[in-house]
Order: sequence, then C-alpha cells, then structure tokens
Amino acid sequence: MRPVITQPDVDVDVLIVGAGITGIYQLYRAREAGFSVVALEAGDGVGGTWYWNRYPGARFDSESYTYGYLFSEELFDEWEWQEHFAEQAETERYLNHVVDRFDLRQDLRFGARITSAVYDEPSGHWTVTLADETELRSQFFIAATGVLSVPYFPDVPGREDFRGESYHTGLWPAAPVDFVGKRVAVVGTGSSGVQIIPVIADEVESMTVYQRSANWCTPLNNRPITPDEQAQLRASFAAMRATLNTSDHGFHHVAYDRATFDDSNEERQAFFEKMWNSPGFSKLIGHYTDMMFDPDANAEWCEFIAEKIRGIVEDPETAAKLIPKDHRFGEKRPPFVTGYYETFNNPKVSLIDLAQTPMLRITERGIETAEGERPFDIIVWATGFDFGTGALARMGIRGRDGLALEKHWADGPKTFLGVQTAGFPNFFFPGGPHAAAGNNPRYNGDQVDFVADTLMYVRDHGYDTIEVDPAAEDRWTTMVDTVAATSPAVFGQSSYFFGANIPGKPRKYLLNSAGRPKLFKEIARVRDSDYAAFRLSRSTPS
Ligand SMILES: Cc1cc2nc3c(=O)[nH]c(=O)nc-3n(C[C@H](O)[C@H](O)[C@H](O)COP(=O)(O)OP(=O)(O)OC[C@H]3O[C@@H](n4cnc5c(N)ncnc54)[C@H](O)[C@@H]3O)c2cc1C
Repeated sequence: MRPVITQPDVDVDVLIVGAGITGIYQLYRAREAGFSVVALEAGDGVGGTWYWNRYPGARFDSESYTYGYLFSEELFDEWEWQEHFAEQAETERYLNHVVDRFDLRQDLRFGARITSAVYDEPSGHWTVTLADETELRSQFFIAATGVLSVPYFPDVPGREDFRGESYHTGLWPAAPVDFVGKRVAVVGTGSSGVQIIPVIADEVESMTVYQRSANWCTPLNNRPITPDEQAQLRASFAAMRATLNTSDHGFHHVAYDRATFDDSNEERQAFFEKMWNSPGFSKLIGHYTDMMFDPDANAEWCEFIAEKIRGIVEDPETAAKLIPKDHRFGEKRPPFVTGYYETFNNPKVSLIDLAQTPMLRITERGIETAEGERPFDIIVWATGFDFGTGALARMGIRGRDGLALEKHWADGPKTFLGVQTAGFPNFFFPGGPHAAAGNNPRYNGDQVDFVADTLMYVRDHGYDTIEVDPAAEDRWTTMVDTVAATSPAVFGQSSYFFGANIPGKPRKYLLNSAGRPKLFKEIARVRDSDYAAFRLSRSTPS
C-alpha cells in the first residue's frame, strides 16, 4: 500500500535529490519508515558516480563487498561481486538490482535536474523546481547530491574551439568511445586519469599525458574473487558487517601496531614491500602507525615509492616527472593503479609536466603549451570535480528569508554532523560536505540512518519542522576546521579536500578529519538529549 501524505498542500512528504548509493538508501529508509517519497535524478539512470563515470578503467578503490549495502543479508548473499575491486559497469548493474529488488523504481524520476529549491516560511514546506519548470512541494527536502558529482574543467582558453572529440571522465557517454588509431590527449593524472591511461594505451595511435601535479600512485592489486572466497564472504557476513559498521574509516583492513622506526631498515623495506603488494586502502589503514603523523616516516615510504617508479619507468626523465615533489603520501587522496607507470614505457605514450611546460590554450587542432602545439583527435579531461559543495551550491537552494545556501557558505560550508545547516529547516544533505572520510557508503549510510531516524522523530512527536540551532552548527564547524588545521595527518592544503583544485574556492576542509567516531558520538548525544541541538516546531500548536 502506498503511504498517505501526512501534510496538506504537499505533493510528497520527502523529496530526495540524487539516485547514487546515498539517495537510493535514503529512499529505501524513508519508504520503510512509511513516508511518501520521490527521488529526482538529473541523469537518465540509477548509480550517481557509477552512472556518470563510465570511462574505460573506472572501478572501485574500496573492496566491492565492503562498498555494497549491508542492510540486507539476503541482498549480500545473492550478489556475487566478480572482482575484489569491481569495475563501473558491475557497480551500475548492482545499484539497478538493488532498486528493482526493493521496488524503489516507482519512486524514482530520471532526467529531472533541480534548478531551485525554496523554503516557504509560513507553511514550512519546500518548493522544488526542475529544469523543465515542473514544481513539486514537499515537507522534507533531502539532497543526496554527492561530493564528486560536478565535473570540473580547468579554465584554459579555447576549450570550445577544439574541433575533435572531447570528453570529461565524469560525463562519459554510454556509447563506447573509439580510440583505435586516434591521437589522444589525457589532461589530468588524478584518480580517474591514472585509471583510464593504461586501459586505452594499447588502442590509441599516440597518447600525450598532461600532468598538473604527480600523485603517489601505488598498486590496487585487484583480482577475481575465487569461489572459496565467495563462500567465505557469505559465511563471515555478520562479522564483516560488525567491523564495517564500527570501524573508523568504514574499511575492513586491520590497523598495524608498529611505528616506522621501531623496525630496522631491512625490516622496514620488507614491510614496505608488503604494503606495496597489499590491496587498495590497506596502504593507508594498515600502514605503520606514524605514517600519517611523522614527516620522516612518511618520507621513507615516499622514497620507497619513488624507487619503485624509477625501477619501472625506463626513461629517467619521465620517471623523475612522475615522482611528486609538492606533497607527501596521504595529503591528497592517493590513487591506486594497475599498470600505470608501465604505460610510460610504451613508445606511443609521452608525458608533459605542466609545471615545467604550462598549457597555454586549446586550439582547433589540439593543445598548445609553452613548447608548441600538438594536434589531437580526442581530448580526455580527467580534471576532477568541484568537490564537497559543488552540487549543493548550484541548486538554487533558498532557506529562511530567502537566504541563499551558496551565500551562507561563501567562506566554506557550515554544518551540523554534515547533514543540516542553520536557516534551512527540514533540509538535509547526507553524503555532502563535512562527512567523515574513508569508504564512502559506510559513513554516508550512517548519515542516511540519522536523517531517516530524525524524520521519524519529527513526525512521531507531532512536529512539522526541524532546524539545527546555529550554536550547534558553529560547534561542529569549528571542530571540523580546528581538527583540519591542527591534525598532524594534514601536511598541507594542496588537496581537493580543501577545494585547492578550484581557483577562488575558500580553502576550508570539506570532509571531517575527526571521522566516524566523532559522528557516532554526536549522534548519540543528539538522541540522549532529545534533539537538544535542534529547534523543533509545530505549524499548529497541539
Ligand atoms: C571515479 C570515481 C571512483 C570512486 N571510487 C570510490 C571508491 O572506490 N570508494 C569510495 O568510497 N568512494 C569512491 N568514490 C566516491 C563516490 O562518489 C562515492 O563512493 C559515492 O558513489 C557517492 O554517492 P552519492 O550517492 O553520495 O553521490 P553520487 O553518486 O555523486 O550521486 C549524486 C547524484 O545526484 C545527482 N544530482 C546532483 N545535483 C543534482 C540536481 N541539481 N538535480 C538532480 N540531480 C542532481 C547527480 O546527477 C548524481 O547522480 C569514487 C568517485 C569517483 C568519481
């Protein structure tokens, strides 16, 4: 039976934006709680990140089975991930399976881009307008719009003049791109660039990689999941769920208990070798305890990686360009790779270091740098995203007294728990800025659960609106900024986590370094104090 709308003059109780892993789970939870819900998605299908990023080589850096949903053991049992780190197509299939299995598609609308969302003070409702001018009114407005959903193009003159094909990795077409025999430029060597480069290298006639800054890439160490491992995963579901639901970063990797200089140089090199051969993020979680805190320890590991690069890349000049000089391991999100450094031994592939040879303009034929013009058939922009606040700042969100969200956040996001901001009643943004860092679905899921529980609290206590108290917002935001500024784990502000890739963006930390433990603690405090951090109100006093 369809839920009955609980308030007059609204089309739906809960309006969700985004059909990525966060929005789908929010839809599931809100429906389970008995709300009438609609979820609107700009794309033409389910998946969010895994719908838009269809570029060759796109895949997880989180283990597949730790990334998928954990709320249903039956779901876990019936989906057999093929690889430890699944490729994009499998994840998109998985998310579609979840939507159909839990009968969520009836409440999803695709090709629906929200252009404005305005809070109406007298009624306490939101009016949401789509690009086609359709209007919908809801009591609760939840933006599950992601932190990596607004692709960023660098401001290089002439981008529109290029006569060949150009693609952004985050807006990849559904139809395969034919690279065979083409002269290809790849701009950017972050997580997406380093995934696509080795995968298309064999097909292209030639490839020029334009690198703004080198990254500390280490092997992903992916492989198929064997039948024995499949059985083991199913047998240990409860234990794995318990670990993932409580671990600081939402991973199942086990922390190591030794510090770098507890070991002799020989032992250290052996441990580094073990790390190099370990899967994905274990190189952050399972590393020496001081790796992210002691610059000398970090430098030892960086030198180990640099030596690996020198050993793999035959041309010493290219190898030197591929070794980062402007940041330590972990300051930026470290990409994980398969055959990336080896690609530069392919005679078809060349590397241009933009720090030495700046890009001047895009021409009709190709790319012009300080060294001259190179002609291309295809330019791939692997230039990242307007991280954290990008989608929310572009949605025309207006709160109390017409307050624009982008103005409220002009100096950086202000939030409580990374889910609400003062002046915007009944508006939530799980998976937005100030979330913890790590395996995304785990901490976004914590936020979704909190939002769902909060909506039930409001309804079941006869309230109509809920809005965080500015003092609580201040407390949380100050905590995020203070931890970011004082944490020894943060060696600088060169990362997109600080908005550093977007010219003019305030250098404010867009995640939450205090992580999940702090989130859990604050959520418990909210519950124990009967939502004291929030202002709750009724439009008609009972
Ligand atoms: C290539 C790539 C690989 C990644 N790998 C990992 C990984 O291994 N592990 C990990 O933890 N994280 C990874 N991430 C981060 C990833 O974004 C998250 O894991 C997760 O997918 C975020 O889900 P979400 O639902 O919060 O947001 P998204 O998946 O980004 O979904 C948000 C949706 O909102 C929609 N939307 C935004 N604005 C509007 C609007 N105005 N109107 C309508 N719709 C709108 C978007 O179209 C989008 O579909 C990766 C990201 C990328 C880009």
